[in-house]
Amino acid sequence: MFRASPYKLKMFETCPQQYKFTYVDHLSDQYKTAKPYLTMGAHVHNALKDFYDNLEPKERTYKNLEKILRKRWLENRNGFAGVEDERRWGTKALMMLKVYVHKNDMATTPAMLEDYFDTDVSEDVKVLGRIDRVDEEQGGYHVIDYKTGKFNAEDLSELQLILYAMIMAGNMKTNIHKASYLYLPENKWHSIEISPEMYEEAGNMVLEQVELIKQEKEFLPCMNKYCKSCDFLEICPKKEEIKESLDQPGIDKNYG
Ligand code: SF4
Repeated sequence: MFRASPYKLKMFETCPQQYKFTYVDHLSDQYKTAKPYLTMGAHVHNALKDFYDNLEPKERTYKNLEKILRKRWLENRNGFAGVEDERRWGTKALMMLKVYVHKNDMATTPAMLEDYFDTDVSEDVKVLGRIDRVDEEQGGYHVIDYKTGKFNAEDLSELQLILYAMIMAGNMKTNIHKASYLYLPENKWHSIEISPEMYEEAGNMVLEQVELIKQEKEFLPCMNKYCKSCDFLEICPKKEEIKESLDQPGIDKNYG
C-alpha cells in the first residue's frame, strides 16, 4: 500500500533527492534538526486545539488563549537560536492568536480538531493528512487548514484542500461544501467551494504522481528556495553549488 500525503507528493515534485533521503533511505531521524518556525507552528496548532476542547464559548478570550499558548510553549523549546530569538517567535505566535480571537467568531465550536485521517484512492494507494479543523455550517461541513506563515500565492495548493475535503468526506460520510486555508498572521482566508465531482480528478492526480514516484530511478537533487533549511544540505550532491549561491550578494538568505 502506498501512503501518499500532500506533503509527501509536494516534496517529490520540489526535490526528488530530498524525497529519497526522507522516504526511501529513511534518514530523517539522523539528520532532522528542530526549526523555530516548526516549533512555533506546532504550539499555535496545539493551543487552538486546547482552546476549543477545554473552554466554553464565553471563556474563549485572548487572555485565556495566551495562557494556553504559554503553557504549551514550555513543553518544547527546541530550534531557537537563543533567548532573544525564542522571544521573537513567541511574540509572533501571540500576535497571530490575538488577531485570530479578535477577527473570528469564538462562539463557533468545531466539529473536529487536529487528527490524522486517510482514505483509499485505489486498491493500493491511500491518501492521508493531518486535518486541523472541520466546522459544521449551513450547506455542509467546512474543512480548515491553519497556516502560521504569511500568505504566499506561489506556495498555495488548492489540490491539497481538495484532498483534505476528500479525506474527510470519506471518513465522515458526509458532504463537505467548503475547504479553506486560514493564514493566521493576517487572518486571511483562502476558500474554495467543494463538490464531490472534484474528488475523481484529484484522486487521478494523486495516482499519476504515485506512478511517477514508483518509476523514478535517479531522484536527482533540484535546487529550490527551501534548500537553505533542508535537513539534508550537508549530504546533498549539490551542497557546494547551493552554499555558493547563498554566499552571493543579493540572494535572500532568509528564505525557507
Ligand atoms: S539541499 Fe536542496 S537540492 Fe539538496 S536535497 Fe535538499 S532540497 Fe534537494
